[in-house]
Amino acid sequence: MSSTHQGRGQPAVVVVGAGIIGLTCALRLEDSIKNLSPQAKPLVLLVAKEWPTSIPGVPLGHSVDYASMWAGAHVRPIPATTPQLKREAKWLKQTVAELGRQVDAQPWLGITRTPGIEFLEAPDEGYRLQNHESFSQESGLPGFRILTPSELPKDVVLGFEYETYCINAPVYCRSLLRKFVLQGGKTVNRTLASEWEIFSLPFDVKFVINASGNGFGKDPKCFPIRGQTVVTDLEPAMKTVTRQLKDGSWSFIIPRFFHGGTIVGGTKELGDWRHEPDMATRNRLLKNGQTLVSHATGQSTLNGQADRRTLGVIADVVGRRPAREGGMRIELETRTVTSRPGEEREAHTIHAYGAGGRGYEIGWGVADEVMELAAPFLEGLRSGAKL
Ligand SMILES: Cc1cc2nc3c(=O)[nH]c(=O)nc-3n(C[C@H](O)[C@H](O)[C@H](O)COP(=O)(O)OP(=O)(O)OC[C@H]3O[C@@H](n4cnc5c(N)ncnc54)[C@H](O)[C@@H]3O)c2cc1C
Repeated sequence: MSSTHQGRGQPAVVVVGAGIIGLTCALRLEDSIKNLSPQAKPLVLLVAKEWPTSIPGVPLGHSVDYASMWAGAHVRPIPATTPQLKREAKWLKQTVAELGRQVDAQPWLGITRTPGIEFLEAPDEGYRLQNHESFSQESGLPGFRILTPSELPKDVVLGFEYETYCINAPVYCRSLLRKFVLQGGKTVNRTLASEWEIFSLPFDVKFVINASGNGFGKDPKCFPIRGQTVVTDLEPAMKTVTRQLKDGSWSFIIPRFFHGGTIVGGTKELGDWRHEPDMATRNRLLKNGQTLVSHATGQSTLNGQADRRTLGVIADVVGRRPAREGGMRIELETRTVTSRPGEEREAHTIHAYGAGGRGYEIGWGVADEVMELAAPFLEGLRSGAKL
């Protein structure tokens, strides 16, 4: 990681957080300054305490709070029935378009086009009213089709399929980080007490993007949603399959292409802070997941030949989704800060945290909205105005 002592006084724009939100914002920032003259161009700094390196089953650890390492991750649209879901649908559609461009141009990044199947035992009105038009309008994903009753497993009352994306989360984040560094971005490995601490670094910090996941734990609207899943040796799963059970729990299979095994999940436990995997939960996830295997591998039960391969456990996963009441905080905040003794200055932070369980499927749309808030500062750099 680079040293912070090199850049005294050098103009810099800083992203806090190397999760999926920080990485998408950092890359969009690099794009938006690439045509600036060398004199106007600021350094783009990424500051974080955890970085993408994990391989399930290998002793390279990450905390449960670094959500981006623990995600499945698939793109699974949710009918946009609330203001929060409508906002997220816009970001999702933008992200879907970007993932499509990336998978075509750079198939090694960690994204794979994958069929998605959903089974619901007790669908709410949003799902019951969803059709081809509303689904493609809200998500931009093709191929929506409601399954016929004969295609549904027992106890499932609604099912549908569509074309979507699966992302090998650690591989993708690593690819994005490599890209960021190759394009000239610098990294600082640091545990911060606050996003405002950045203004005491020895740079002329123009603005900060706070992509810290949970807003440094200071926002009363933030709360964790514990997710427990199992990385299994099921290969090859070709489809991502999700079942919403009557009791409100979930069962899903997400292929992690690029030799990442297959994720069998998962829990969504609001406000649950437990770090350790729970063995009763693991057994329940595997038992429910087993019933989805034939759908995920394409060895359908329809002809009576269920795929009965046993799921072998590679690793138990526990991660905390950084959720926030009402959805993400994407907002510019300006404060007067003391950057050094006797030196007060106006400091600008664009907050971008609280992605909950959707960071991968909304990340590029979020980054675009963050760039809209950053536009006046970037324009100031272009024109040489004092910020
Ligand atoms: C089990 C599970 C399954 C999931 N499945 C999906 C899925 O299928 N699809 C999907 O879209 N999403 C999924 N998610 C959600 C997704 O993982 C999150 O929405 C996303 O990772 C949030 O990214 P983030 O960048 O906001 O936060 P994080 O990934 O938590 O990153 C935060 C960054 O900020 C840094 N940071 C935090 N505090 C400090 C500090 N004090 N000082 C310095 N740096 C700091 C961290 O080191 C890290 O680099 C899942 C999550 C879990 C846990």
